[in-house]
Amino acid sequence: MYAPIRLPTEETIAEAARILRDGGLVVFPTETVYGLGAHALDARAVARIFEVKNRPRFDPLIVHIADPAMLERLCETVPEAARRLIERFWPGPLTVVLPKRPVVPDIVTAGLPTVAVRWPSHPVAQALIRAAGIPVAAPSANPFGRLSPTRVEHLDPVLRAQVDLIIDGGPCEFGVESTIVYVTEETVTVLRLGAVPVEALEAVVGPVALPTGSRDRPMSPGQLPRHYAPHTPVYVLRPGEVPPLSGRRVGYLAFRHAPADPSFQAVEVLSPTGDLREAAARLFDCLHRLDEAGLDVIYAEPVPEVGLGRAIMDRLRRAASGGNGEVGR
Ligand code: AMP
Ligand code: MG
Repeated sequence: MYAPIRLPTEETIAEAARILRDGGLVVFPTETVYGLGAHALDARAVARIFEVKNRPRFDPLIVHIADPAMLERLCETVPEAARRLIERFWPGPLTVVLPKRPVVPDIVTAGLPTVAVRWPSHPVAQALIRAAGIPVAAPSANPFGRLSPTRVEHLDPVLRAQVDLIIDGGPCEFGVESTIVYVTEETVTVLRLGAVPVEALEAVVGPVALPTGSRDRPMSPGQLPRHYAPHTPVYVLRPGEVPPLSGRRVGYLAFRHAPADPSFQAVEVLSPTGDLREAAARLFDCLHRLDEAGLDVIYAEPVPEVGLGRAIMDRLRRAASGGNGEVGR
């Protein structure tokens, strides 16, 4: 039986809050993507997240809060640079990795001495966490490694059958996951590119270290080369490269302009005006639709790697990397 999908009325929020407090699972909207939430301080509830998502236990979760007191409850210390970032970007799509207190179960952090924390700006996420009165661990509400849902229509049917309640808040504003930073007294390191652009971080704290792209990044478990992937193989084009058509069912993900060649089976355009924020917000929705179109391959155009373009290219490369996909660059 599928979990009910409800609009975010006061009664629904109250019921969802009760479910979370009792150790259940709730899918809820955030400004990045839909989250699969559980009581972050209840190890058994958190274990269900890993089961439902089929997520490896070495991949730690982000804990969502709704006020500064919850941060105090979770974290031992907050370095000065982290405070400045929090002041500027919370509530919002920035996740900060900080030293954890013993109250945070090991299953949440995959045994690390740190915990990843975010205060989301989405009004439904805020209302839910506040009503529950507890921090909420919530990865994206998708099977591990697959495309993140940015609308309830994207939710995987198997996952829908294993949760207790789904709150429909419409499409997500940013459409890509939060930016994750690890902050010490000396340095700010970006562990995952996301909805807060690197340039915006640097405007607050000066130069930051970027993810290396190396497969061996012990600081950032779970940042796997293949991730955010549709079932259909994805190939990322080089600038100006024209895909071969050769009798297969070929889909095309364009940045600004649909290709002139009419022989593509399915075409999606991320942003006709070239707005990278709009492109990011539409990325997973376009990929979900192309993935439903029964194609043999999806060709994706590159976007400029500035601002949100970096997060878009990061997701496209991971969608294309290894597995059944083809690596475009
Ligand atoms: P998500 O899958 O969107 O919930 O994001 C979770 C990601 O956050 C993980 O895959 C890790 O890369 C990162 N993360 C979470 N907790 C930590 C931590 N304590 N230290 C470093 N990275 C973390
Ligand atoms: Mg995810």
